[in-house]
Amino acid sequence: MQTEELLQILACPRCLGGLEALPSTAAAEGFFCPTCAVVYPVRDDIPVMLVEEAISREDWDGGRR
Ligand SMILES: [Zn+2]
Repeated sequence: MQTEELLQILACPRCLGGLEALPSTAAAEGFFCPTCAVVYPVRDDIPVMLVEEAISREDWDGGRR
């Protein structure tokens, strides 16, 4: 599924807010919730939309996946 399509159907499981793709230009490696400041990783092409699996933006930018 394309990133644009995913952005339309995915929501943050914690705050139910909209997400931003990371990176925004290519196949997303993660989906960022600006409200919660966490990233939901994409693993094996599947977005992991679980609060327990969310990675803080700080850790994400530090290379955690
Ligand atoms: Zn959120």
